[in-house]
Amino acid sequence: MADYDSEKTYTLSDLKNWAYPGTSLAVLGYPIRHSISPQMHNTALAEIADADSRFKNWRYFRFEVHPDNLIESLPIFRQKGFHGLNLTVPHKTIAFDSLSTIDPDAQAIGAVNTLRLEKDAYIGYNTDGFGLANGIERELKRPTTGAHVALLGAGGAARAAAVQCLQSCCASLTIINRNQDRLARLIDSMQALAESNSIPLIGKSSSEPDLSLPKKALIVNATSLGLKADDPLPLSPSAIPSNADLYDMVYNPPITALMKSVAAKGGKSTNGITMLAFQGAKSLSHWTGAKPPTETMLTAALAAIN
Ligand code: NDP
Repeated sequence: MADYDSEKTYTLSDLKNWAYPGTSLAVLGYPIRHSISPQMHNTALAEIADADSRFKNWRYFRFEVHPDNLIESLPIFRQKGFHGLNLTVPHKTIAFDSLSTIDPDAQAIGAVNTLRLEKDAYIGYNTDGFGLANGIERELKRPTTGAHVALLGAGGAARAAAVQCLQSCCASLTIINRNQDRLARLIDSMQALAESNSIPLIGKSSSEPDLSLPKKALIVNATSLGLKADDPLPLSPSAIPSNADLYDMVYNPPITALMKSVAAKGGKSTNGITMLAFQGAKSLSHWTGAKPPTETMLTAALAAIN
């Protein structure tokens, strides 16, 4: 086992010769080098194994997989006995189309971030919405239910956020994005769910001069803006309503420029580390059936980024 290092970034060449003698789990992405999921999951697995020795040899690894190779790699992960996989950028929608069994929540989102091996096939789940809802409640002390939500972004994470907000009966959902085709596709696919819950669903371009967001709105940043120090703001300060709260999915850096702008308007703001911990905890419960140590995962994630 000494040859298997959960700090290392593995490739598909390593997968061909994979013979880890315990139960393997992994996150696949491109790029993946900076993922802190191995630290978070291996700390949790050690705690679970203390109480239940069946999990003693479970380990979580990191694999860099180019999107062009993802579909052909999944049967190899299966043959090599990987019991569970997490998928991150850009694999969540690519894998979705290749699975025959998908959990209804992931079906509604159109993307999977968690695969669990059952018999000889992977079942797809999406735990991002669960992570987001729990992160918002824990840090902002308010539910998405009844909130006027302003969702920034229309990518994979935004799709999970939109389904979560609509399923939990937010008061209204305004989705704001730069690329209008992508925005229109997201609005189209959410229309039926919004109508069935009688929730106003609005799409806006981020370049619109007057976004007219409601006071005390719950802003969710699901764009990748904020990851780099010189990124522009995903929402101009003049469009931020007073006393709005912000859940920023970005967690590294821990304080983004958008978080500062929201605080300047009297609102609460938090980064996305709790979403990471909660979505990871839910994935772990899909794989192990055990109660996941969410606080331990959050502590490990915080330690890994500091
Ligand atoms: P996608 O690549 O699918 O979507 C990216 C989004 O960001 C799109 O809406 C895109 O807009 C927007 N965007 C990117 N660059 C710009 C720019 N220069 N100007 C304006 N908009 C821009 O990524 P994901 O949805 O998977 O992830 C989005 C963010 O959420 C990432 O930062 C990711 O790390 C984070 N995330 C955090 C999680 C957590 O647990 N905390 C979980 C999942 C994601 P456009 O359509 O116009 O290109």
